[in-house]
Amino acid sequence: MNVTAAAATPTDPLADRILDALIHRIGKDRDAARPHDWLAATILTIRDEIIDRWMESTKAAHAAGAKRVYYLSLEFLIGRLLRDALSNLGHNDAVRDALATLGVDLAEIEEIEPDAALGNGGLGRLAACFMESLASLELPAYGYGIRYVNGMFRQRIDDGWQMELPETWLAHGNPWEFERRESAYFVGFGGEVVAHDNGQVHWSPVEAVEAVAVDTPVVGWRGKRVNTLRLWTAKAFDPIKLDKFNEGDFQGALSGQMRAETLTRVLYPNDSTPAGQELRLRQEYFFSSASIQDIVRRHVQYFGDIATLPDKAAIQLNDTHPAVSVAELMRLLTDHHDMAFDAAWDLTRRTFGYTNHTLLPEALESWPLPLFERLLPRHMQIVYAINAKLLREARANADVDDRAIAAISLIEEGGERRVRMANLAFAGSHSVNGVAALHTALMKQTVFADLHRMYPDRINNKTNGITPRRWLQQCNPALTALIREAIGDGFCDDAEKLPALAAHADDAAFRERFAAVKRSNKVALAAYIKDSMGLRLDPDALFDVQIKRIHEYKRQLLNIVETVALYDQIRSHPERDWTPRVKLFAGKAASSYHNAKLIIKLANDVARRINADPSVGDLLKIAFIPNYNVSLAEKIIPAADLSEQISTAGMEASGTGNMKFALNGALTIGTLDGANIEIKDRVGDDHIFIFGMTADEVAAKRADGYRPRDVIDASPELAQALAAIASGVFSPDDPKRYEGLVAGLYDHDWFMVAADFDAFAGAQRAVDARWQDRAVWTRSTIHNVANVGWFSSDRTIRDYAREIWGVM
Ligand SMILES: *Cc1c(COP(=O)(O)O)cnc(C)c1O
Repeated sequence: MNVTAAAATPTDPLADRILDALIHRIGKDRDAARPHDWLAATILTIRDEIIDRWMESTKAAHAAGAKRVYYLSLEFLIGRLLRDALSNLGHNDAVRDALATLGVDLAEIEEIEPDAALGNGGLGRLAACFMESLASLELPAYGYGIRYVNGMFRQRIDDGWQMELPETWLAHGNPWEFERRESAYFVGFGGEVVAHDNGQVHWSPVEAVEAVAVDTPVVGWRGKRVNTLRLWTAKAFDPIKLDKFNEGDFQGALSGQMRAETLTRVLYPNDSTPAGQELRLRQEYFFSSASIQDIVRRHVQYFGDIATLPDKAAIQLNDTHPAVSVAELMRLLTDHHDMAFDAAWDLTRRTFGYTNHTLLPEALESWPLPLFERLLPRHMQIVYAINAKLLREARANADVDDRAIAAISLIEEGGERRVRMANLAFAGSHSVNGVAALHTALMKQTVFADLHRMYPDRINNKTNGITPRRWLQQCNPALTALIREAIGDGFCDDAEKLPALAAHADDAAFRERFAAVKRSNKVALAAYIKDSMGLRLDPDALFDVQIKRIHEYKRQLLNIVETVALYDQIRSHPERDWTPRVKLFAGKAASSYHNAKLIIKLANDVARRINADPSVGDLLKIAFIPNYNVSLAEKIIPAADLSEQISTAGMEASGTGNMKFALNGALTIGTLDGANIEIKDRVGDDHIFIFGMTADEVAAKRADGYRPRDVIDASPELAQALAAIASGVFSPDDPKRYEGLVAGLYDHDWFMVAADFDAFAGAQRAVDARWQDRAVWTRSTIHNVANVGWFSSDRTIRDYAREIWGVM
């Protein structure tokens, strides 16, 4: 009778399954279902298929006796998973259509999935891209980390200031994860070590927590393989002490549980600065111990003999956060598997690889020796034993003097004694890699110079990469469709097929379509900014974007000061043919990092003033978009024209944001730092804007005694911009707000903002000129997309697999 009602009755079997999941697994009917219920029902429905493939993948690896890769990382910044899973399984259209028959918009429910923000920035996102590539390349692999109840904080901007709010990503439950109560391990802390007459050593911890595995499936491209991300959650062994509870001491009864669960409650919101807190060391040991126990258990279960571990397991340490794993494996081998120390050491070294992520001295992890010894007394003994062996080997070489011995030692002497985690990771690994060519070269010359002389074959380079599934296909469907039309879809399976696109760069009609895709992405981003911030942007302006953690070495301040200088110029010379620009910023500052938070406030203060100034109108608009995370990056990057990668040369180990932008057709303005150098080599000098000092020049300038005051006095544009900021032009409510920040530039300017300012401003005017000839600009953007397929994390993982892990 009623035609609309009949049409709304689902006949699509997939729609039936989603509806069935909604009713029988969520417990809601269609009328009562809210968007979160539809999201959960959709995830549960496609999860069933993922589980089947997951089990097949695991069985196949067992049957083949395959060597497994274990990626240990304190951070996995995986973001949302629904779109990733649908796209990798090729089910996007089917699920969209099925949901449409139910009156549900897929895009809308994708948008309410919380970001799994279990990381700070690049290091955590790299781990997520690697997990996806490992599955896509059909390599059996496990990621090991921590299931933080509160991941990276949510950032709110209040009156221009960063506010940190807890991220409650688990508030609606997490349909992606499986708790494995049977995979639980005892992790002890403190207590004492007793050596028996027979040589046996026994550690009796005073405190213990249970590490319980929570598994999330990682779906590879075309669903070929599903791997496991195993995140540990801490539980008390005796969650409620019933005797206390019965006595009425409810708090005492629960205190053990509280203490245990605190361990996996928060992610340290620090990027490239070590947290000195004891809790951080506890977290590191907790997840290292559980992971190593799990790896050893699995090996013994399937292969019987612990001596073959290095043939069947490759463990990669993502930075030094899991470095205590080296001592933990030594402990298990010597104390629990009765292996002799030297044999255990040989086996350990053959099993581990270590990836270094930073040369910043303040970011090299080390722990006060008394703390390490109190928390991990047995590991302290093992570290001493390793150190004795290491220094014996070092002294055997006649060239090694006392200075070199002090640099090689696992213990930092002089002042407070500390355990150096980077040296432990280096000594305990057969491979130590940097993450871009320059970074690797600098590792050999600086932090690891002496260890490198001792083990010249150990350091190698593996330039970072990004997964083109998330960072092109999923985030930029319009560009993906256009590329497919031009060169076929081979690039979807192999990003190194993208160079075929270059042949279309000289085709005017193709260029126009390419530019039209970019424009449509800019319209979408402008709509998001209008809705979320109330700011209207012109999609025909140049979208100039700097999104990343806020850190002085990344030099958001250089960009803001140049924006102020441009503002002055536009007002002084309104008659000139200015390129309309939109300056976009986003990023979080560590909660304790004063200057970084002040830089966020400055960006917002400058934006407020300039956006309201009718004399510049649409020529210059600025927005600081709150709460940078993976999902926001996926919205912004496809809409960028210009990618700001302007770190002080020698300080950004690699960067991966730079790769994402180039792959989406933004041109880079950048220093010769990290992977920018390799991007330049691939896209060609004509298609990138390089400026500023090289790493060598920065080092030489520091050594010569850099005098920023002289540099500022010699640059009227810079001096005028700094004077405006320092005098309160942008902060009339608190004119002295930026006095200290500007004084720091005059006084020491550690990150050489002043030294690179004129070169940066010059490069920006070259950008303006290039933008005026849109055909030339678009040609350059096509050359960028065509030539950065090499930065696929598939290439990076293949290199790790062949050269470090021996699994390909
Ligand atoms: C890629 C990415 C990063 C790393 O960006 P860089 O510019 O390389 O520092 C940080 N955070 C998120 C959310 C990312 O997606």
